[in-house]
Amino acid sequence: NSTQACLENDISGTDNKGFKGHDMLAPFTAGWQSTDVDPLIIEKSEGSHVYDMQGRKYIDTLAGLWCTALGGNEPRLVDAATKQLNTLPFYHSFWNRTTKPSLDLAKELLDMFTAKKMAKAFFTNSGSEANDTQVKLVWYYNNALGRPNKKKFIARAKAYHGSTLISASLTGLPALHQNFDLPAPFVLHTDCPHYWRYHLPGETEEEFSTRLAKNLEDLILKEGPETIAAFIAEPVMGAGGVIPPPATYFDKIQAVVKKYDILFIADEVICAFGRLGTMFGSDMYNIKPDLVTLAKALSSAYMPIGAVLVSPEVSDVIHSQSNKLGSFSHGFTYSGHPVACAVALEAIKIYKERNMVERVNRISPKFQEGLKAFSDSPIIGEIRGLGLILATEFANNKSPNDPFPPEWGVGAYFGAQCQKNGMLVRVAGDTIMMSPPFVVTPEELDELIRIYGKALRETEKRVEELKSQ
Ligand code: PMP
Repeated sequence: NSTQACLENDISGTDNKGFKGHDMLAPFTAGWQSTDVDPLIIEKSEGSHVYDMQGRKYIDTLAGLWCTALGGNEPRLVDAATKQLNTLPFYHSFWNRTTKPSLDLAKELLDMFTAKKMAKAFFTNSGSEANDTQVKLVWYYNNALGRPNKKKFIARAKAYHGSTLISASLTGLPALHQNFDLPAPFVLHTDCPHYWRYHLPGETEEEFSTRLAKNLEDLILKEGPETIAAFIAEPVMGAGGVIPPPATYFDKIQAVVKKYDILFIADEVICAFGRLGTMFGSDMYNIKPDLVTLAKALSSAYMPIGAVLVSPEVSDVIHSQSNKLGSFSHGFTYSGHPVACAVALEAIKIYKERNMVERVNRISPKFQEGLKAFSDSPIIGEIRGLGLILATEFANNKSPNDPFPPEWGVGAYFGAQCQKNGMLVRVAGDTIMMSPPFVVTPEELDELIRIYGKALRETEKRVEELKSQ
């Protein structure tokens, strides 16, 4: 069965004896996994590499969880944190009291985001909290406008927007819903824009986008436009399988959303700060969002922080109606935490000083072309991505409609081969995802491509064996 296949293939921390059945209720980990398999314990990081407890070195192709954009040992981020810790380790931002780093970071983000003018920034500790905040902001906005029925959200199948109750509801992955009584009833899901998997025979990318925009419009009309408050999308879908939008997709979707006075939320948690080869994903696809979600590379993950950017149209309503509605009673103890904000300010300074967007554009062809050269492998269905984000999807006969039997654990086997050879990848079923740090070097990319090729040959052999059994 698939559990057995995973156990056989998972070589996580085979030398970390004694930690099997540890005391953590581990996130996104099956009970049997933490009971039966020793965890991989990471102890140190350096550039694009991490080291486990035995000193084994791995190239960390997911940059932690799509987040350590500046790699594992950027001293300037450590100095920024230390300096702030030594001056003011904490003060809050409630009741119009706040700290200088949080004000400076808000200003910096508003200046940086140019796809559409933004007026305010709200800080959280995570992407999930930021997306929960989006829902509350949108509800508050519609209450202020006297539209109490305009409260539903439309997200997309395979989206990832977080794992708190509301952000998990926005997420379009069954694993985050089943067993948790989700999604919440006000969340609807529309099509996943994965051309390779879902296009009809003979349908072009543009025609596929037209059909998806039409489906979205049909859903809005069926529910009643007066009930739909907002649409949320990642510019490139991340955890759902790295799915770049098909040609003309966001133009057509934005036209529909605008027509029915529905707010557009760009979840830029993975795409922002250069990952796609533009400062924000919205720049890449000409998205003009009303609200933006940020996290991850915002601080290069050295401190937990997320943010919501609010357009003047939305913030003006919230501000002008405050006499009627009272205070905006939402926030976290650590909203605008000065240490996290100081680190984020320094990360942004580094992105700018080192022309990180330009750097991503310079090195990403090696990453994209180097890996896409493996596309004709008989076990690969599709390799897709842009900038420094990419997914490989294994499939039988190269067909989206012919997956390998889950119990073969093809993706898990590939992941285990990578790990044995000194590389960590994200495995989700038979999809393998990568988003290396922006500072990944050409030599590290050579290493990444070499290990990928080796793991692929091993996996091809394994599939042949399984087929002949
Ligand atoms: N949105 C997107 C697009 C994400 O990728 C993630 C995390 N992978 C989140 C939101 C949630 O962020 P967090 O895990 O910090 O709550």
